[in-house]
Amino acid sequence: MSKETYNAFEVAQAQFDQVALKIGLDESTRELLRQPIREYHISIPVKMDDGTTKVFRGYRIQHNDARGPAKGGIRFHPLETADTVRALSMWMTWKCSVVDIPLGGGKGGIVCDPRTMSDREQERLCRGWVRQLARVMGPNLDVPAPDVMTSAKHMLWMLDEYEAIYGGRYPGFITGKPVGMGGSLGRTEATGFGVIFVLREALKELGIKIEETTASIQGFGNVGQHAALKYTQMGGRVIAISCWDNNDKCSYTYRCNNGVDINFLRSITDSFGTVNKNKAIEAGYELLSGDDWIAQDVDILLPAALENQINSKTVNRISKSVKVIAEAANGPTTPDADKVINERNIFVIPDFLSNAGGVTCSYFEQVQSNMNYYWDKDEVMHKLDSKMTSAFKAVYDLSVNQNVFMREAAYIIAINRVAQAVKMRGWV
Ligand code: GLU
Repeated sequence: MSKETYNAFEVAQAQFDQVALKIGLDESTRELLRQPIREYHISIPVKMDDGTTKVFRGYRIQHNDARGPAKGGIRFHPLETADTVRALSMWMTWKCSVVDIPLGGGKGGIVCDPRTMSDREQERLCRGWVRQLARVMGPNLDVPAPDVMTSAKHMLWMLDEYEAIYGGRYPGFITGKPVGMGGSLGRTEATGFGVIFVLREALKELGIKIEETTASIQGFGNVGQHAALKYTQMGGRVIAISCWDNNDKCSYTYRCNNGVDINFLRSITDSFGTVNKNKAIEAGYELLSGDDWIAQDVDILLPAALENQINSKTVNRISKSVKVIAEAANGPTTPDADKVINERNIFVIPDFLSNAGGVTCSYFEQVQSNMNYYWDKDEVMHKLDSKMTSAFKAVYDLSVNQNVFMREAAYIIAINRVAQAVKMRGWV
């Protein structure tokens, strides 16, 4: 991967191929698992508020459903591509497998910028996406959830459209719904909190006290905010946070060496994760360039934005002080950068393990929706913590026993489980 142009699907395939070779996966299983099993590419005409009709490009890609219905979020992003959705669907398969929940992998995307659309336009877009895909999705087929720039309100519009089409109540069609409308308590926090549960376990193994650590976070959307909250609750100090500024169309890093006040920063952040720059400066935050989050003298780096952020161009800016990288985003590190990080002996908690808390809680939401009986928040959090902790332990133990890096160990466990499922079903 020393190519200039980044392609997430090529990265996902390269990671898979390397491990498939190592574990001696047979050729047909390899061929089946190195690409999605099904893809839907759609056009969605949407009536805009100004009376015009705009046609949006959308996708749903199911990578594998041998272990259970395909599962994964739907992203809204102006730069969305089929290959990105392919990669993300593949990573979802490994994610569900590594935490051992009975679900497969899928992902959806729409090429759009919700920051420039009214709520009504977004609602029509959500409904249009479901209308095109209702026949190939459902509680037992493929279950969407929130992802980049989508949230509970989008999930409910999508559910409402699905239920209008099928004439009934099907809360298991989608997860990440609002609490009280079939959603699970704790789902909003789950991805960010899950990252910190596994980080806590990693620090224990490394003999580092979380209260004595500092962190720098890239991204202040749902995942970044909740990771920051849980980490500071456990006694860690966040020194810097970077986020996209939608007014200036660039990203900034906000730094405070005494520790960022997460609740204050959240109070001046919009629903897409843009911090109000003027208010932050007024409050005394130091304003740095968006890329500077990676170069801070901290113990922990938490990339919680998009893919391809730690790459051959940025990896050498990582400070000597960094001991752990907990990948909260999907695909933040390229294979090139990974090599450098491994050589430097930085402990990596790989994305599909680190950020699996979201889908794990989605699974709990499905279970609760199907029972029509909802757990209290403590019960959800307790179950989430124990699932994340045991997944971390299994990966860590394998990495020690087989002397491989954490990413490889996570892949070995995840791929083996899916390979076994496709074999047991007689697919290969
Ligand atoms: N979009 C989240 C992820 O990438 C959650 C997926 C889900 O809950 O299905 O893991």
